[in-house]
Amino acid sequence: MDAMTAWLRRRGIHLLTGLAGFVMVLVLSGSVPAAVAAGIIALLPAFLGDRRTEPPPPRAADPSESADPLANVKAAFAGFDSPVFLLDRQGNVLFQNHSAAHAFGEINAGQHVSARIRQPAVLDIIRESFASGKPGATEIAMPVPSESVYLVRVVKAEGEADFFVLIFRDISETRRIDRMRTDFVANASHELRTPLASLRGFIETLMGPARNDPRAQEKFLAIMQEQVTRMSRLVDDLMSLSRLELKAKLAPDDAVDLVPLIGSVCDALAPLADHVGVEIVRNVPEGPVIVRGDRDELTQVFENLIENACKYGQEGKTVEVTLSAPDGQPPEVSVRDHGPGIPEEHVPRLTERFYRVNVESSRSKKGTGLGLAIVKHILTRHRARLVIRSEVGKGSTFTVRF
Ligand code: ADP
Repeated sequence: MDAMTAWLRRRGIHLLTGLAGFVMVLVLSGSVPAAVAAGIIALLPAFLGDRRTEPPPPRAADPSESADPLANVKAAFAGFDSPVFLLDRQGNVLFQNHSAAHAFGEINAGQHVSARIRQPAVLDIIRESFASGKPGATEIAMPVPSESVYLVRVVKAEGEADFFVLIFRDISETRRIDRMRTDFVANASHELRTPLASLRGFIETLMGPARNDPRAQEKFLAIMQEQVTRMSRLVDDLMSLSRLELKAKLAPDDAVDLVPLIGSVCDALAPLADHVGVEIVRNVPEGPVIVRGDRDELTQVFENLIENACKYGQEGKTVEVTLSAPDGQPPEVSVRDHGPGIPEEHVPRLTERFYRVNVESSRSKKGTGLGLAIVKHILTRHRARLVIRSEVGKGSTFTVRF
């Protein structure tokens, strides 16, 4: 009975009133004499207790019944880190979350969404979705406040109140990685295609016009060997990069003494330095300088840096390799050359894959354009940094800070 009373009360019908009405119907239909009916009505409060005077039971606030039918939806989207707008059927803004205000500027409730969103592609999907009731999606690039790409979706939400959700997902990072991957594959294929084309040309010549020319054969085979070596260097560097990417998040943890490590890299590069007329000068302390890392990878870092300094800075005649480890400070290794230096605009891009200041000079020096990209990957894994300082005409210093 209590449940029924509550149900009736929720609908504005008091049980007592209802029962009195029922008795009145019986009277009017002649089933009950009027005197009996009057008695029943008089006694009803006694049967039921006088519920007319009973205060309504306290109820917990139910947000679904609050004045704003979108209160729950707004609360859910408020903390979203993607920009979200709620729109009415005319495209007026019912709500924008903080992220939307940050990305597109504040908009007053009731203003049309086009006051802030002006991209025709977005306005089109909103219009189409309003007309069809179906979801829509598009991708837009926004140059300000910072270069960003958004995937924009509009979805109709049906319920007590019809409204549309316009949501922006920032996919700039995904697009950047996609572009990098495509560029990388294009660059790697291009780098491999050149020696392959040259090999094919020489094979055809050796099988045709040079078939009976031992001198030409000898010359062509030497060039072919050079091209094959170049291809295998490239493949080795590509494999190194991919291995490093696989373990990018695992910090290597061996104790590595930099003193003997740098010594052996300098020894190994002495023949190359000799060949290009450069002297490698070492400034390395006596005692051990220990860092946490991977010995082979750190060897590769210093090999690449010292080899570059010898190759590109050969006209400076000396390359200084300095290991400093002041008390209590993290160690630093710098490789300095006195070559032509690097124009400022190239410096920030040197660690990009296949980025070269001068492609021909790099190729003639047996470069792949991947050396500094490998250095950067290894140092990131070691929580170390590469700092490049260079002055045109004076030389360059590549410093590894642990
Ligand atoms: P590469 O295989 O071409 O040497 P790297 O990634 O090692 O590729 O270096 C990228 C480019 O940076 C080189 O092609 C060269 O243009 C420039 N570079 C690197 N080290 C030096 C240096 N010590 N002096 C001048 N230019 C340098």
